[in-house]
Amino acid sequence: MSKTMNNIGVLTSGGDAPGMNAAIRAVVRSCSFYGVSAFGIYEGYKGMIENQITELDARSVKSILQRGGTILKSSRSPDFKTVKGRKTAYENLKKNDINGLVLIGGDGTFTGAKIFSKEFDIPVMGVPGTIDNDLFGTDYTIGFDTATNVVVECIDKIRDTAESHNRLFFVEVMGRDSGAIALRTAVASGALDVVLPEETAPLEDLFAELVKGEANQKTNKIVIVAEGNAIGSSLEIAEKVKAKFPHIESKVTILGHLQRGGPPSCADRVLASRLGVAAVEALLKGESGLMVGLINDQISYLPFAEAINGKTRLNEELLRISKVLSV
Ligand code: ADP
Repeated sequence: MSKTMNNIGVLTSGGDAPGMNAAIRAVVRSCSFYGVSAFGIYEGYKGMIENQITELDARSVKSILQRGGTILKSSRSPDFKTVKGRKTAYENLKKNDINGLVLIGGDGTFTGAKIFSKEFDIPVMGVPGTIDNDLFGTDYTIGFDTATNVVVECIDKIRDTAESHNRLFFVEVMGRDSGAIALRTAVASGALDVVLPEETAPLEDLFAELVKGEANQKTNKIVIVAEGNAIGSSLEIAEKVKAKFPHIESKVTILGHLQRGGPPSCADRVLASRLGVAAVEALLKGESGLMVGLINDQISYLPFAEAINGKTRLNEELLRISKVLSV
């Protein structure tokens, strides 16, 4: 164990995700377990620059395991992208005697972390907290399981009304660059089709699925649309479908920020707890510049650059079976 590591700071940054609180709790409680002080840095990198830093003990994080959002709050900080901003942040860490950091966030947060840990001599570990599941080096990111459960619950409700009126529903889900939420929920909710950012399938493919659905006498049709796809928004797609098939009545539901809220699922609580403990243990062993992840249910570590730049791939098996099952 490193002798000098006695004050560890923790923050949440970028897009919030259910389970971030469970990760904060795991970091603070691990510090307590190993006899190290923990400091909460509020509002992500912004709070590091503004010196919004408070010591937390094991009891400060009671009853947050089951709460969505993040008690430390999150933000996007343009100032952290500047050398001056990062220098101020470093000086504040020094003022508070913080000599280790755990950053909970997504690829933007780790891009900042990679730069910061090269510029300054403070060891940094990353914990993947984003609903998008778009980070290389971990099978799952914190928040993804909860967000997909929310989507499936909503679609179950939408299906009831779709069935009653023989309607087609376009359901838009989050995922600007990643179709992970869309694809998983398409399989879990029995969608007729799914429109993904990673695929450049033409609109005609969707038209063909709709024709097939009609021919197979499907009375309710759910099409899941990831927000970042190449064809257009769910509203634009619905317009195009209406122009082509005026007799098909369709509705659009954009789930939006519903997907970020609510109590984290059991899977996200366990994932966040495991990753939070592993991040602190790695710092205490003298590691730095790594994202902790879970691969095949085992804790793993990957340099920030690889986590950010590595290509996450669409789950080809899910894609294939989504087509098999929508027959
Ligand atoms: P996420 O971590 O969820 O991907 P963002 O992309 O908004 O969220 O990134 C979170 C924060 O990380 C940004 O507001 C910024 O402060 C920091 N960050 C992102 N990119 C850089 C960069 N190139 N240099 C320094 N900091 C960065």
